[in-house]
Amino acid sequence: MKNIEINLNHVRAQIAEAALACERDPDSILLLAVSKRKPSSDIRCAWQLGQRDFGENYLQEAQQKMQELEDLDITWHFIGAIQSNKTRNIAEAFDWAHCIDRVKIARRLSDQRPSNLPPLNVCIQVNIDHESSKAGIDLGELPELAQAIYQLPGIRLRGLMTIPAPRETFAEQRASFAQLAAAMSELQRQGISCDTLSMGMTHDMEAAIFEGSTLVRIGTAIFGERD
Ligand SMILES: *Cc1c(COP(=O)(O)O)cnc(C)c1O
Repeated sequence: MKNIEINLNHVRAQIAEAALACERDPDSILLLAVSKRKPSSDIRCAWQLGQRDFGENYLQEAQQKMQELEDLDITWHFIGAIQSNKTRNIAEAFDWAHCIDRVKIARRLSDQRPSNLPPLNVCIQVNIDHESSKAGIDLGELPELAQAIYQLPGIRLRGLMTIPAPRETFAEQRASFAQLAAAMSELQRQGISCDTLSMGMTHDMEAAIFEGSTLVRIGTAIFGERD
């Protein structure tokens, strides 16, 4: 409990400080606590400190935690890769999915979203640094995929998500994030209303905030190193 409290306060202060340094409103940046491979008790602890948005990468692990935390009002974000056979469970249990990179998966999520729930919030994952090890589309494919997703009734396109290649300097970190921000501005110019830049993790959150991130996904800095 003690460490998570200290860590969470530290991350909140870091976000506020970065926002003020680039003349942004700290409240325009949502903190997503990434709880993968950490126990439900850690999530409960962060929840008691006011944290409401949590990110999970693995469906089975997430389902187990959702059961254990049924009594809490949590906004659940799926931030892992989505295989076809997982779409139904994700559409039924999550509020957000951040890693959409195929229209087929988007269609399934839309079709399988229960009609009593609001549309599932989604982000398109962009492989901004063209790494073969990472999921996501190239920017050239974005207009077509965004248009297709925009039409689907069961999901709502909220914006773009990326995990850039590790960089040495702040300027290099910013350059990758700037490309994602420009891509979202371009979508907005084309009449696609979206409002979310899901970018920034423990080691690059400041650079992401400087380039307009509206949602930082932070694991290690809150819950400590993962095994
Ligand atoms: C694990 C993970 C994070 C959190 O990473 P940290 O470096 O621990 O902050 C963020 N986003 C995604 C997609 C992840 O898989």
